[in-house]
Amino acid sequence: MSAMPDDPRAQEKISAATMSPLKPRRIVIVGGGFGGIAAARSLGRCDAEITLIDKRNHHIFQPLLYQVATAYLAPADIAAPIRQLAQKQKNLSVVLAEATGVDLASRSVQVRTPAGDTRNVPFDFLVVATGMQPGYFGHNEFAKYAPGLKTLSDAETIRTKILSAYERAELTDNENERSRLMTFVLVGAGPSGVELAASMAQMSALTLRGNFRRIDPANSSIVLLDGASRILPSFAESLSRKAAWRLEKLGVKVLTSMKVERVDEQGIIANGQRIPSATVLWTAGVTPSPLVKTLGASTDRAGRISVGPFMDVPGVSGIFVIGDTASAFRNGKPLPGVAQVAIQQGRYVGRVIADLLEGKQPGRPFAYFDKGNMAVIGKNFALLESGRLQMSGFLTWLVWAFIHIMSLPQLQNRLRVQIQWLWSYLTGQRSSRLISEAPSAQVVSAQPVQTADLRTLTPGSPLKVKAPASSTPA
Ligand SMILES: Cc1cc2nc3c(=O)[nH]c(=O)nc-3n(C[C@H](O)[C@H](O)[C@H](O)COP(=O)(O)OP(=O)(O)OC[C@H]3O[C@@H](n4cnc5c(N)ncnc54)[C@H](O)[C@@H]3O)c2cc1C
Repeated sequence: MSAMPDDPRAQEKISAATMSPLKPRRIVIVGGGFGGIAAARSLGRCDAEITLIDKRNHHIFQPLLYQVATAYLAPADIAAPIRQLAQKQKNLSVVLAEATGVDLASRSVQVRTPAGDTRNVPFDFLVVATGMQPGYFGHNEFAKYAPGLKTLSDAETIRTKILSAYERAELTDNENERSRLMTFVLVGAGPSGVELAASMAQMSALTLRGNFRRIDPANSSIVLLDGASRILPSFAESLSRKAAWRLEKLGVKVLTSMKVERVDEQGIIANGQRIPSATVLWTAGVTPSPLVKTLGASTDRAGRISVGPFMDVPGVSGIFVIGDTASAFRNGKPLPGVAQVAIQQGRYVGRVIADLLEGKQPGRPFAYFDKGNMAVIGKNFALLESGRLQMSGFLTWLVWAFIHIMSLPQLQNRLRVQIQWLWSYLTGQRSSRLISEAPSAQVVSAQPVQTADLRTLTPGSPLKVKAPASSTPA
């Protein structure tokens, strides 16, 4: 349940008192991700005008973004046009625009279109499902050197950064520079960081094997670091240990209890130690879309809206927040920022709004059904935790592959991904090894390393890590 059983708000009623007298009612959904699409679909039979606003024209299947970043898949394989997903739902219109604010007084959402015009979209009911964006724990200056992985263009930027680093390493005669170019650092060892690191390790060992004449990509150094004392903290400790073992086996250096102090064009400094690297990737923190601030509602430490038992914004009639943007609890523990939570909340809120439109009080508060947690660590190995069940290895990897194929948004995505996976499985090749544009100073810095007074780490050298000062970020 989103509310604890003893939460007095679980007894609350929500009303639709501020509905306009006009019909049909207007329902606005901001965000065409997992939560927003689920909410729109569950309102399919409603006598209402639904407007789905998204700043992108496509829905992204984020769990496979890391495969776009590592050249397995092309962007279109894991994305679907929101208009196409909405095609058959006649009460649903799609607006391509960025929502910039919510005006509670006039009950409207302010939007900015791609052409730069601003408009107000009035609503009787509003569902905010804007997800999260990369967050740098107050160090936004890191963003320039350490891209996050949240959008298709982030994935393409990362792919270009990785492939360009190998191209430059092949050309340079400077040994330090070659070592910097072939060192890849990932900050954040949650599922995204772990999956990305494993995929990069296998790309360097298998896919790029024999492709270069002056370097051997298998000698790359892939470093996965985190502020916490163990990787995959959302999994049981035994699975987290298995994940670390598997990563080490693939050649990834796992460093825990590392506090990132600086990210710059030469690499990263963590716990006082400089790791020269041309490719630092950010898979650590996330922060909500700036839109949520304009709701003026109370938030948790991560900036997510603290929702009521019906996924409603307490004290404001007819506004709901779902998915990653919402802070909700189950048995006293915060619900994780995963697709299942967003989908179930989207469907639930659709039903609540349908009830309110019919003048009925919604039934039960939101209750999350936990189907379990999965992470894949390279070819043939995945982890699964579901209640007391813990699994890992090849069979789990098959389950992971099946679930992900079946969850892709459209049949064409499923067919394309299956073909790409089969090809890669049999040949080790990856079909999307494209450098989107010529390497620029911003993509890969060409400057030589200057680390005279700093301890350095070179690929293959033993790691000497100081005891942790504290366990953030990540
Ligand atoms: C790399 C990565 C890997 C992941 N892997 C997994 C996994 O394996 N399993 C799992 O369950 N979960 C995974 N997740 C988490 C999962 O993707 C999220 O929990 C889920 O997407 C949340 O759904 P949502 O609807 O809240 O937000 P999202 O799906 O992020 O959708 C938000 C939408 O809002 C739009 N938007 C944002 N701001 C605005 C605005 N101001 N105006 C208009 N539109 C706006 C965005 O364009 C986007 O379409 C992963 C996430 C990432 C980033």
